[in-house]
Amino acid sequence: MINTTSKKRIFLSSPHMSGNELKYVNEAFESNWIAPLGPNVDLFEKEIANYVGVSEAVAVSSGTAAIHLALSLLDVKKGDKVFCSSLTFIASANPIIYQSAEPVFIDSEPETWNMSPQALELALKEASIEGKLPKAVIVVNLYGQSAKMDEITKVCKFYEVPIIEDAAESLGSTFKGKASGSFGEFGIFSFNGNKIITTSGGGMLISNHKELINKARFLATQAKDPAPHYEHSEIGFNYRMSNILAGVGRGQLEVLDERVLKRRLIFNKYFQELAYIPGIKFMPELEDTRSNRWLTALTLNEIETGISVTSLLNILGKENIEARHVWKPLHLQRIFKETKYYSHQENESVSEQLFKTGICLPSGSNITENEQMRIINCLKDSLKVKV
Ligand SMILES: *Cc1c(COP(=O)(O)O)cnc(C)c1O
Repeated sequence: MINTTSKKRIFLSSPHMSGNELKYVNEAFESNWIAPLGPNVDLFEKEIANYVGVSEAVAVSSGTAAIHLALSLLDVKKGDKVFCSSLTFIASANPIIYQSAEPVFIDSEPETWNMSPQALELALKEASIEGKLPKAVIVVNLYGQSAKMDEITKVCKFYEVPIIEDAAESLGSTFKGKASGSFGEFGIFSFNGNKIITTSGGGMLISNHKELINKARFLATQAKDPAPHYEHSEIGFNYRMSNILAGVGRGQLEVLDERVLKRRLIFNKYFQELAYIPGIKFMPELEDTRSNRWLTALTLNEIETGISVTSLLNILGKENIEARHVWKPLHLQRIFKETKYYSHQENESVSEQLFKTGICLPSGSNITENEQMRIINCLKDSLKVKV
């Protein structure tokens, strides 16, 4: 987007270092552990596992790699189906294609914007009648808000289908006091540059299954069989995280709780300043859940606010403010146009509605108060504010 202002750029969500990262990075240099293994990797895995309350974790090169490993561990292959949230980043579903399996997309429900338990139940019921249950269900926790894990877990248990919790955006969030990412057979996190904490690029696969995580570690290191020479009986990947980046991750994890607090404050400020405007609705927070508010998201009713999301994004862009549409649902993407999709209700596709009306505002924990006021004032000027 072309900006016509000399104002400093405000990013949607940019990396926010604490300073401690360098201590761990220096340790890596001093000990010459410049490899995709080493003490920072081991400790970062332990620290993440402790933080979310699971027994096992393996640090990998991206969140996408973590999902891919989870699908490999569940033996997802050609001819298999995998259910996946539709309203998400494409990385949630790409690994299904890497495994030559077939995705089926599930709509959102309005209270969390995440996977609709009723659409999921219908999809599972039909799959069960056809005798072809999915090998896994990938449940995404959008923008930090946990999906309705009670209902989703219950229906998946009933049909005995394992859950992979895509918690790439929800590290630091909780559902009924339990950490986001810890609900499924597997959980995954991302430490991409725009996430709540970052290693510049990286991810983590977590689980309570020790053997499976050991297997993941083996697969992520080119599947080297124990032998004095190079011996392989399986196809692996080169997916491990470097010891330098794990050092960045350790420094970041120390400030995760602070980052969550700050993002929640940013959300609250937007809410205070904008919620009264007719036609604006903020992304809800389900009772008994605590979102990390990775991104503040809201919907605009174009008739009431007098402006479309696209026009508003243009105005913000000209002010050098980076905002974004809500994810375009995967079932609407051209490459997935033949893919099966289950909507929330027969005549109600929640994810399509959220895509049409949703906007994500700059939410980085390093945004200053002045910068946030710049965004808020720009929004107030652009939206029809009745006084
Ligand atoms: C960022 C993200 C991913 C992928 O993580 P990478 O580390 O970028 O591979 C997966 N799912 C969701 C929902 C994400 O937001």
